[in-house]
Formats: sequence, C-alpha cells, structure tokens
Amino acid sequence: MHLDALKEVIRNIPDFPEPGIQFKDITTLLKSPRHLKLAVEGLAAPFRADAPEGPLAERIDAVAGMEARGFVFGPLVAWQLDLPFIPIRKPGKLPAPTHSVAYDLEYGSASLEVHQDALLTGQRVLVIDDLLATGGTAAATAELIGRCGAEVAAFAFVIELAFLTGREVLAPHRVHAVIQY
Ligand code: AMP
Repeated sequence: MHLDALKEVIRNIPDFPEPGIQFKDITTLLKSPRHLKLAVEGLAAPFRADAPEGPLAERIDAVAGMEARGFVFGPLVAWQLDLPFIPIRKPGKLPAPTHSVAYDLEYGSASLEVHQDALLTGQRVLVIDDLLATGGTAAATAELIGRCGAEVAAFAFVIELAFLTGREVLAPHRVHAVIQY
C-alpha cells in the first residue's frame, strides 16, 4: 500500500474547532488497522538501523510524544524502535516536578510539561506528533527537551500542512512527514 493511501482514511472537518480551520481527523485512520500500521511504519522507517538510506549519523535515545494525539503514535514508534517513550503532557497532569513551556497554536495558545527527570543530559530524542501545522507545539516540545539537558534528534509527523511552513520554524532540525498537504 502506498503512503498516499493514508489520505483516503483521514477525514477533513471544515471549521473545527474554529471557522477557517480545516481539521485533519485521524480517528478514521485509527479505525483501519492496516492504515495505522502503515502510518506507524512510515513514521519509524527513516530512524531504523536498517533504513534503506542508512541509519541516522547520530544515535536516538528516546521517543517523545505530545498529548493527546502524539500519545497515539509515539508509543507505537518507540515500540518499533525499541526505545523509551517520554510523555509531553498538558498542564497539571504529571505528578512529579516538571518543566513547563507556553506557546501559540494555529488556534489559541497552550502550554506543555515534561517531568524534570524524564531524560538524561545529552540524550537525543525523536519527537512524534500526528500533525505539523505552525510548528509551535513541536518547538515548545524542543524547548522542554532542552530544559532537561537533552536535545532533539529529529521530528516526525504523520501529516504536514506544508503551506503553514512549520518545517521552517523547526529548522535546522530534521523534519520527517509521512504525508503532506
Ligand atoms: P502547531 O503547533 O500549529 O504545529 O499545531 C500542531 C498541533 O495542533 C498538533 O498536535 C495537531 O494535532 C494540532 N493541529 C493543528 N492544526 C490542526 C489541523 N488543521 N488538524 C488537526 N490537528 C491540528
């Protein structure tokens, strides 16, 4: 199955959660086991030791995912790569001491948190989310990872809304997207 088959199972909801937003609903993708497998394998492929283009020059020590849809794909990618999974959560959810970063969304603003002891100094992290829009969420996650003394190895998204140029916000980090609109 070609990766573009994922577009057949991603539902577009106009004007959600606000007028003008074309919301890419991945719940319809999750209902199809073979499409979910395709998406997760597509996310992990460039980061496998046996990737056709060769493994990353530098190592990856952990996979991080942002609540909520990064929690769907992130642990599956971590499992595929046999790496730890680090949850990046909405405020007030993590029980131990946290770092916190506020950021702007395509719609509204928000903040994210990570446990202060989630990562070790110098660890290199693959950051996973369902969708890259403006890049604000991913940039905030990179800042949180930095506060832990670790660094981003790469970002990987199922969907990239290329017209929003989030990729430029995340430069010079490597950005991998399974499909683009
Ligand atoms: P951004 O920070 O602008 O890159 O937005 C990315 C985050 O917001 C991701 O966690 C997405 O799940 C969500 N998001 C932003 N825009 C959309 C959209 N058009 N459709 C679905 N999810 C979106």
